[in-house]
Amino acid sequence: MTKRRDFLKLSALAGAAALTPSACKIETPGERPAKSKKSIKPIVISTWQHGMAANKAAWDILVNKGAALDAVEAGVRVTESDPLSTSVGFGGLPDRDGKVTLDACIMDHKNQCGAVAFLQDIENPISVARKVMEDTPHVMLVGEGALQFALEKGFPHKNLLTDKAEKAWKEWLKKSNYQPVINRENHDTIGMLAIDANGNLAGACTTSGMAYKLHGRVGDSPIIGAGLFVDNEVGAACATGVGEAVIRTAGSAIIVEMMRNGMSPAAACKEAVLRVMKKHSDLKNLQVGFLALNRNGEYGAYSIYKGFNFALRTDTEESLVNAKFELTNA
Ligand code: ASP
Repeated sequence: MTKRRDFLKLSALAGAAALTPSACKIETPGERPAKSKKSIKPIVISTWQHGMAANKAAWDILVNKGAALDAVEAGVRVTESDPLSTSVGFGGLPDRDGKVTLDACIMDHKNQCGAVAFLQDIENPISVARKVMEDTPHVMLVGEGALQFALEKGFPHKNLLTDKAEKAWKEWLKKSNYQPVINRENHDTIGMLAIDANGNLAGACTTSGMAYKLHGRVGDSPIIGAGLFVDNEVGAACATGVGEAVIRTAGSAIIVEMMRNGMSPAAACKEAVLRVMKKHSDLKNLQVGFLALNRNGEYGAYSIYKGFNFALRTDTEESLVNAKFELTNA
C-alpha cells in the first residue's frame, strides 16, 4: 500500500514535470462547474498517469473533429503498446503461469459495444474489441476464440511478455505467494472517456489485469457495465482497481444511472465508492477508483484510498488530477 502510494506520488510528479508549467498542473478535487450545452467542447479523461500520453493521441483526433470512438481507441492503444506500462497490453505483468492475458472493451454513443477477455498474444486488444463490436453480432469473445478472431482479422501474433515482466514474474515465483493485491502489484488499468465535437460520447477500457492472477481470471475491465459504461443521453463511467469488487456492484453502470437521476459525475463516483465499501467487509488493500464524464462535459473521480489520479485534456488544459478519496490508510 505504502509502496504504491509513494510510487503514484512520484509518478504523478514525474509526469507533471515532463510538461510545461503553464500547460500542466496537479489539482484537487477533479471537478469543474457545469457548462451550458452550447459551449460543449471536446474533452478526454483517462485513468492514471499513463493517461497523459494516451490523451495526447486521443486529443489529436478530437481536435480535428474526429469521432470520440476513434479517439478513445487510438488513445488507449498508446498505453497498450508501451512496454514500460506493466499493467496494460505489451509489457503487462503475467498471470501466475507466466502468461500475459488481456481484457478490453469499447462502447460508443449508440450503445454499441465490443469486448475481449483472456486474450493472449495480441498487442492491441482494444482494436479487437472494436472489431467484435463492428464486425460481429456479438459483444464479447474470450480466450482461444478471441485470438482466432483477431488473427483472422489480421492482427499480428506477438509475444507480450517482456524481459522485464518475465524477470518480475520469476522473482514472484520464488515465493509464489498468491496474494494478488492490486496496490502492491502496482496494477492500473487505463479507462478513457471522451466527448467529440458533435457532443457524442465513447469509452474504452483495457488491462492485463491483476498481476500473477489465476490463469483464466477475468476482471471488470472487459465487462460492459462494470469496467465501462456509456449512455449518450447521460454520460459515461469507467473503473480501475480490484475488478471483482467493481463487478459485484456493477460500478460503471450504477454511476451512469445516478447521473441520469441528476447527480454530478463527482457525486456519482463517490456514491459508487461508498457502495463498494458497504458491500465489502474487508477493505484492507481494496482499492477501487471511478472516473465519470457527463454529456455536458462535467467530470469527476473518486476512490476508496488516496492515490488515484486521472489525466485530463481539453482545449485549455492538460493536467494530471488527484481524485478525492474516502480513506488515507489501508
Ligand atoms: N480493474 C483491473 C482488474 O481487476 C485492474 C486495475 O485496474 O488495476 O483486472
